[in-house]
Amino acid sequence: MYLFKHSHHLHIKTMISNVEDTYHFNEIMTLLHQHSSTVQKPLVSREKWEVIQKTPFTVLISCLLSLRTKDEVTEDASIRLLGRYDTAEKIVALSEEEIQELIYPVGFYKTKAKRIKEISQTIIDVYNGTVPKDFTKLLSLKGVGRKTANIVMVYGFDDPSHIPIDTHCHRIPNRIGWIHTKTPEETELQLLRILPKQYWTDFNHLFVQFGQTICTPLSPHCSICPISQYCKKTQVTKHR
Ligand code: SF4
Repeated sequence: MYLFKHSHHLHIKTMISNVEDTYHFNEIMTLLHQHSSTVQKPLVSREKWEVIQKTPFTVLISCLLSLRTKDEVTEDASIRLLGRYDTAEKIVALSEEEIQELIYPVGFYKTKAKRIKEISQTIIDVYNGTVPKDFTKLLSLKGVGRKTANIVMVYGFDDPSHIPIDTHCHRIPNRIGWIHTKTPEETELQLLRILPKQYWTDFNHLFVQFGQTICTPLSPHCSICPISQYCKKTQVTKHR
């Protein structure tokens, strides 16, 4: 019996290390870290959190502004709005038109102005002016999807038990061959299952940065890609 238990234990250990060998998580994440240290962050993102006080509320609003909007435009709009109006109380004191003017030209600025005001009002009415530290409650705020709620949990509340998934975080693990998923939500659930916990916190920023520089959407730079040897290049038809 002892022997059986022992070999069973060994068997599970071997299975786990085989899984890690198949996926090469450690090698890939280490290489992405190295790549990240060679890429200079855009000036704007270095400046943003120096001007704006980083709180769950400012992370939430900045994330809403970023949807379907270029980083530089989001950064400038965040600084204009949140540099002066960084709490729900201060935002509700503004008219929708004033918010629109401050955040223009972010994508869908009219809808976003309306949502930002509504969300701020809900935070005051339902949560006493404080962003709830609760994924489900965040998700129930109008206009807040899984990506935004996860970002607020990770970057607003420093809670490492979530993986925010944007377009890069969905596309690249599918190309590598870690997962085979159709939607970002499926990707999130699969990654929570297979990716060892120690990689969760860094996953989002490393993959976003990698997706903006090397593994770009239309024609990825496979010839200079540091993780090329571990990548199955699933559904990559055109590359450089
Ligand atoms: S080899 Fe190509 S498809 Fe694979 S991760 Fe690198 S850039 Fe992306």
